[in-house]
Amino acid sequence: MFGIAAVAAAFVGTNAIAVARAPQGPRSLMLPENQVTRVSDHVYAIMGFPNVAIVVGDRATLVVDTGLGPRNGAIAAREAQKLAKGPILYLTTTHYHPEHAAGEGGFPPNTIIARPIAQQQELEAKGMQFVEMFSSRSAQMKELLTGVKFRAPDITFEKEVTLDLGGATARLFWLGQAHTKGDELVDVEPDSALISGDVVQNHVPPNLPDDNASMRGWVDVLTALRPMKFRYIVPDHSAPGDGSLVEANYQFFSQLQARAIELKRQGKSADEAGRILVAEFKSKFPDWPNLAPVSNVVKHIYAEKQ
Ligand SMILES: [Zn+2]
Repeated sequence: MFGIAAVAAAFVGTNAIAVARAPQGPRSLMLPENQVTRVSDHVYAIMGFPNVAIVVGDRATLVVDTGLGPRNGAIAAREAQKLAKGPILYLTTTHYHPEHAAGEGGFPPNTIIARPIAQQQELEAKGMQFVEMFSSRSAQMKELLTGVKFRAPDITFEKEVTLDLGGATARLFWLGQAHTKGDELVDVEPDSALISGDVVQNHVPPNLPDDNASMRGWVDVLTALRPMKFRYIVPDHSAPGDGSLVEANYQFFSQLQARAIELKRQGKSADEAGRILVAEFKSKFPDWPNLAPVSNVVKHIYAEKQ
């Protein structure tokens, strides 16, 4: 038994917490055990590949992302159970890529799985393809992903659903295509915390791995996030920060998009535009530590329909 209540989202508080700017260093494929970081009253995170957020209410606990394969999923579920105050366990995934979704088999069978319809369709279409692609990268990845299967989710939604965890709510919402077609964001109240997946990172250029990613869509998603004021942001592949990360990402991504389109119209090749914009953005955004991916972003923008 579980309750889903529609709760109006209220965004309160904009006090800043210290913003850690450095991206995480080389990381293990295994989530660390007994090393949970507390982000806010109800939100915790296992910092790893990826960061796994755990939202603890009086009645229910929500885990956001699974880690790579069932062994990592079991670690995430165990850490959640150590923190849990209530018997109900929810699992949701920020997108369908294997380090975010392929660990669901490690969760207890009565876990309630929720995700956006767009993400579910994408998972069914491309989930196993990505599992195989990751498996071919290394023996360890192959071992961790052996026997991965995805089961049908218990809750799907088009735009949003609010889970009442008891004393805290988690609004799972989908704003459109960005890093994937099915990127999900999670707004935890009353903490004013956003669990942001790949969509809002901490000073990391956009990762557009294939045609399921859209730079134009990503800028639209950030535009929609701008008026929502969050106090804490928990990204999946970089350090937690404060609400200013939304604006930082919006500025970087929208300016990069605009400049790439401008250079394309001027007849510059994608390679040339990449070189120009890496240099330009290094001086415009000096606190973004690694701008090497910008040249690939420019290629992606050139290939997108404007
Ligand atoms: Zn991803």
